[in-house]
Amino acid sequence: MPYHWILFDADNTLLDFTGASRKAFAQAINELHIPHHPDLFARYKRVNHIVWTELEKGQIDAVTLRKKRFELFLQDIKIDRDPVLFNKLYLDNLVQHSELLHGARPLLDHLHGKTKLALITNGLKEVQRPRLKHTGIDQYFDVIVVSDEIGKSKPHPDYFDHVFQEMRFPDKKKVLVIGDNLHSDIKGGMDYGIDTCWFNPDGQVNATDIQPTFQAKNFEEIQAVVS
Ligand SMILES: [Mg+2]
Repeated sequence: MPYHWILFDADNTLLDFTGASRKAFAQAINELHIPHHPDLFARYKRVNHIVWTELEKGQIDAVTLRKKRFELFLQDIKIDRDPVLFNKLYLDNLVQHSELLHGARPLLDHLHGKTKLALITNGLKEVQRPRLKHTGIDQYFDVIVVSDEIGKSKPHPDYFDHVFQEMRFPDKKKVLVIGDNLHSDIKGGMDYGIDTCWFNPDGQVNATDIQPTFQAKNFEEIQAVVS
């Protein structure tokens, strides 16, 4: 194997975050008796993205994020509900609806025992490990680092310092990061001096100056990169 360590992102790389979040959000909307509208999820995703970007830039902390994304969403749709309760319902539902992307488990089965595996995820501590356990993939990983548990997020080098400390400082040339997000996974890996593989199943155009070492549109292509 060309790499001794493979660092996988979780959401939308191994776990179907898009599907789980849509279902979790719809269920929370029902539970809060908010009138349905086809736009709601898109409007939530827009503010959620803004607030997560603020977190990744270090402008706000994760406690603020939990409340602020639903506060902004409720302001946007002009509905009065408790944003803290909304966040709690959403996160509880997210665990229950979490599933692996099709093909993720066979890839992990293939890699397990051949190379060391780490899971590097920007996520909230009350849901990330329960979601990994719910989907049964926690057992594949030698190291799991949840950003909210250490107070640092990808792409910040302090996050990767922590990951490397847990991996006991392997040779950077023998480490590969795989993830779907150019700004957190790929930029984080590049800035840290390690190879990267951009998981791009939808064939998005890369309009940034962030250049991954590899690109893969499915798990077979990932397997080819790491074999
Ligand atoms: Mg991701």
